[in-house]
Amino acid sequence: MLGAFDYVRARSVEEACRLLAERDDAVILAGGTDLLVEVRNGLREPKLVIDVKAIDELARLDPSDEEWMIGAAVPLNRLAEHRAIRESVPALADAALSIGTYQLRNRATLVGNLCNASPAADAAPVLLTLDAKLSVAGPKDFRTIPIAEFFTGVKRTCLTDGEVVTDIRIPAPPQGLKTVFFKQQRIRGHDLAVVNVAGSYDPTAKTLKVAVGSCAPTPVLLEPTEATGSTAAIAERVVELAEGATSPISDVRASAEYRRAVLPVLLRRLVDRLLSERSGA
Ligand SMILES: Cc1cc2nc3c(=O)[nH]c(=O)nc-3n(C[C@H](O)[C@H](O)[C@H](O)COP(=O)(O)OP(=O)(O)OC[C@H]3O[C@@H](n4cnc5c(N)ncnc54)[C@H](O)[C@@H]3O)c2cc1C
Repeated sequence: MLGAFDYVRARSVEEACRLLAERDDAVILAGGTDLLVEVRNGLREPKLVIDVKAIDELARLDPSDEEWMIGAAVPLNRLAEHRAIRESVPALADAALSIGTYQLRNRATLVGNLCNASPAADAAPVLLTLDAKLSVAGPKDFRTIPIAEFFTGVKRTCLTDGEVVTDIRIPAPPQGLKTVFFKQQRIRGHDLAVVNVAGSYDPTAKTLKVAVGSCAPTPVLLEPTEATGSTAAIAERVVELAEGATSPISDVRASAEYRRAVLPVLLRRLVDRLLSERSGA
């Protein structure tokens, strides 16, 4: 059962920040698909819920030449169906589409997925490999946070009192960028990730960026790898980096041993897929 709380539909980012800063029992609601589950399960007891879904400026989805902007109120289905996103960064559309059901994705947002800060958040690995940044409005100031600095622990971010994420920005993908997202889950259909991995390969810079989820307290971006040598050798470098950077645990979805066994398999497939059309490969 949901505990009682007041509900406000904010009309501006300023109003949302002011209300959030005024009370320490206030929370932001976007799609509510994480928040309301936690409230129903008694894990959180907000007394004021501030809905940001109706703030016009947060509904912007704007892939321009230099930078792509995804507003905090954009639902996952709208993102995944966006033609430029599907064509240029298919991994982002794939990750969005892997979250929950169609009905859920009509409400759930990309920003909510990040702010919830689950180690298994499906959008996080892709956005880490794309060098995304979060635009954040506070009661006094605006700031920009690189996604690699955003997660500080399980369900923890570096957001401070009264801060609201307004959008996510991604540098416009360079010509020929290849992106891939893989997710291992317990069942077909919708489920949280046992392990998720994402990668991007820039054929001009010849660099490979890989990130891993559900294998550490936060999603992890590995050190970028130079894509020189055989695909098999590159894959082994990535596997080695991942083994050094992760610390899988056992939970309801899988044992630590299973995660340790699956991770290299997914990473080898990921590297293979990313580099399959590499000239000279
Ligand atoms: C049945 C079901 C299946 C699911 N499947 C998956 C899955 O496969 N993969 C996966 O990764 N997740 C899954 N989820 C979790 C959830 O749907 C996603 O994380 C979703 O993207 C959350 O977005 P939201 O807009 O609903 O967030 P909300 O629930 O509205 O918010 C989540 C958290 O972020 C905060 N927040 C939201 N927006 C802002 C903002 N603009 N500024 C500051 N803080 C903010 C909220 O206060 C809250 O703490 C599932 C959930 C359910 C119920």
